[in-house]
Amino acid sequence: MNVYDSERIIRLLKPEGFIRTDFPEKADLIILNTCAIREKAEQKAFSFLGRLSKLKKKNPELLVGVGGCVAQQEAEKALSRVPSIDFVFGTHAVPRIAEIINRVEVEGRRIVDVKMSDEINESGRGVDDTENSTVSRFVTIMRGCDNFCTYCVVPHVRGSEASRKPDSIVNEVKALVDAGVREVTLLGQNVNSYGTKEGLCSFPELLSRVNDVTGIGRVRFTTSHPKDMSDELIDSFQNLDKLCNHIHLPVQSGSDRVLKKMNRKYTRDQYLDKIMRLKKVCPDIAITSDFIVGFPGEMEDDFQETIKLIETVGYDGLFAFKYSDRPSAPARSFSGKVPEDIKKKRLKVLLELQESITAEKNKMLVGQTVQVLVEGFSKKQGNETLTDKLGKTQWSGRTVAHKIVNFYGSDENENLPEISIGQLVDVRIEKALAHSLWGICTHIDHDTRDEKGDKHYAA
Ligand code: SF4
Repeated sequence: MNVYDSERIIRLLKPEGFIRTDFPEKADLIILNTCAIREKAEQKAFSFLGRLSKLKKKNPELLVGVGGCVAQQEAEKALSRVPSIDFVFGTHAVPRIAEIINRVEVEGRRIVDVKMSDEINESGRGVDDTENSTVSRFVTIMRGCDNFCTYCVVPHVRGSEASRKPDSIVNEVKALVDAGVREVTLLGQNVNSYGTKEGLCSFPELLSRVNDVTGIGRVRFTTSHPKDMSDELIDSFQNLDKLCNHIHLPVQSGSDRVLKKMNRKYTRDQYLDKIMRLKKVCPDIAITSDFIVGFPGEMEDDFQETIKLIETVGYDGLFAFKYSDRPSAPARSFSGKVPEDIKKKRLKVLLELQESITAEKNKMLVGQTVQVLVEGFSKKQGNETLTDKLGKTQWSGRTVAHKIVNFYGSDENENLPEISIGQLVDVRIEKALAHSLWGICTHIDHDTRDEKGDKHYAA
């Protein structure tokens, strides 16, 4: 969500004459887009902002802004905490960013804009060449959350749930495809409840419309709340040819007692039932998840339930974090806080288990041919492509299961035409590494070239 918002900020500031720089010391304006989901992320944001005071001393004209969830949460308090901040803008103030900067310059004073609104911006993010990836983009379909999990700040800092209209989402996807994008990820805090409040179409219906956009190569979505995952959505993995066989389904804990305290509104068995149905409809589906260890009151037995769940599901990957108190989240006042050393130990056990599962799963891919969306070169320095020890270019991309694959292209296989970014290619996996796969391209799809052989998707 923050990557998407940052891209939007860049696009909105371009007409104001701002261009990106990779060197903070050369910047006239520095904006930090923050995350409040964990205490550590918030601490890092404030320490970064503190360090900017040195740059401000060197260049008093430099403007510093802070946006995102920490900005929404802290508002005026952020100004008193960090003297170098010139403006604070909340999660709903992104469309007003140019106006806010203008006001800071004209009025010569510090500004806080954390006003929230019920309206959702229908214009989306649009297409822009200043963004990071030319082939894979996020498309936000909704904003906010109404679920109020007891550990989470999102409903408080991003507001209540609101969905964009399906036509404007589909039009945004069409525009992205026309600009060369091949993969879109539909974004929302809980995509499964898309459109329910507004009486729009269901999420599976929206997915089907996006799947039908001519030229789209892959469709993904995130995040999906298990309690709202319908059979219709599960069937989409069988019915929609562009939908990647990958689902991120955060469970957070394997213990019913902890799930109840988290207000997740599903039990371990209900979650496992959905996983089984997904695997039945799509046997090779990749499943990833989120976990919190050391939630208040989590006992060793609860943690062991989590471990057993991970073994039962056999995740392809997961994100796991130690619980931390967040302002405005009810769990802050829960008793039974787990000591830091126990949280740390549990996190280590969990991550080591997952590492061995991932390694096993990756090993099983050796010798198989997988489809990869070419995203770029595996080794780059600035705009220069670096060759490996053998003097060859290595390409990089992702499988439908979102695994990173680095591979040799046509310089290894003379029968292949030249590869370009944005193509869907077949890669034979030769090696499974700890965090990626390595292979050799065996086939390049031809629908990315016209009859004359010209590439449609240039690097
Ligand atoms: S579903 Fe729960 S964890 Fe996810 S954003 Fe909403 S409140 Fe937070």
